Amino acid sequence: HSTAAASSLRRGSRDYSTISGRVRVAVRLRPQNSEEMIADADFADCVELQPELKRLKLQKNNWDSDTYEFDEVLTEHASQKRVYEVVAKPVVESVLDGYNGTVMAYGQTGAGKTYTLGRLGEDDAAGRGIMLRAMEDILAEVSPENDLISVSYFQLYMETIQDLLNPSNDNIAIVEDPKSGDVSSPGATLVEIRDHKSFMELLQLGEAHRFAANTKLNTESSRSHAILMVHVKRSVKGKDSSVSTENGNRTPISKTLKPPVIRRSKLVIVDLAGSERIDKSGSEGHTLEEAKSINLSLSALGKCINALAENSAHVPVRDSKLTRLLRDSFGGTARTSLVITIGPSPRHRGETSSTILFGQRAMKVENMVKLKEEFDYKSLSRRLEIQLDKLTAEHER
Ligand code: ADP
Ligand code: MG
Repeated sequence: HSTAAASSLRRGSRDYSTISGRVRVAVRLRPQNSEEMIADADFADCVELQPELKRLKLQKNNWDSDTYEFDEVLTEHASQKRVYEVVAKPVVESVLDGYNGTVMAYGQTGAGKTYTLGRLGEDDAAGRGIMLRAMEDILAEVSPENDLISVSYFQLYMETIQDLLNPSNDNIAIVEDPKSGDVSSPGATLVEIRDHKSFMELLQLGEAHRFAANTKLNTESSRSHAILMVHVKRSVKGKDSSVSTENGNRTPISKTLKPPVIRRSKLVIVDLAGSERIDKSGSEGHTLEEAKSINLSLSALGKCINALAENSAHVPVRDSKLTRLLRDSFGGTARTSLVITIGPSPRHRGETSSTILFGQRAMKVENMVKLKEEFDYKSLSRRLEIQLDKLTAEHER
């Protein structure tokens, strides 16, 4: 089926021949913070980056290190703009061309996930994160007459999905289409986006609701997953509209009979919960049951990625809400880009190591990217009805 994939890839307006369906993984190192400048002053960083070689060295002990390769290695000097261009832009472009896309950040709390994805940068435009830059590129390309952009935004905490655009909606269901395998959350508030300002305000509102919800639940935002979905619906015009006749001439198909094409794709941006395991002793005020439930989605994601990386026959997608929501992102039809975020401190070497290993396994996951395109028969039948009415009227005259 690789030729089918290649030909469907060529149908888009951009050339995808060089991008495989494999999950792309970039690693981003955040700069040392002021606390680390003091606490780690006498110690070497636990990682050393070689961005030209796309390599990262992780200190194993005082005399030895392990070397890992990634699709992209982003140093502490990488700008937000560069990170967007490397991690998200190819995904955003393919979403505009009708493919599903995912951009996800994974790493321990404080490593820079939200900075990378969600930073609004109100007084510093250069600091804006991936969510805002992605919407800017989307709005710049779509046309209000032919296209529709809408977003939903929710958080997943302890296997419950809360609508961040409507706080009273605190238990959203996930629905799977048995035929296509597509997942949707019909209960989530969907807001149409027409300009960048309204998107920015929506994100701010979502953040405020997230803060309020977490205060009520007595938890930190680092314990929940934040998921932004951008739904893109585009009508495609200018497809081949002529057929060859026997004598070799090309005859245009009656415009009336050609169904228009609709592409429905979505961009999913996932700011995951901190990857550090929460203490089962309940030292954070959680009971053992709560600790298990909080860890559930993230460990289920790890298991699915392991199974996919090893080409295992069984992928436990149904074990958590997160893996059900992301089933198209890993092992599905979406183009997926993961950024793993790490800090330099040797005190977090263990967590950094497990983040790196998660990224290495995710790089082995292959997706079968597929154009989300269908004929718009509804609009064709509307047009035919109008034509028929006209003909009938003419005939009766
Ligand atoms: P996470 O979402 O992974 O818990 P944050 O994105 O909130 O982590 O980052 C933790 C702190 O580090 C924040 O104060 C953030 O501004 C800062 N930070 C993270 N990444 C960078 C970076 N690349 N450059 C500068 N500051 C950063
Ligand atoms: Mg965060």
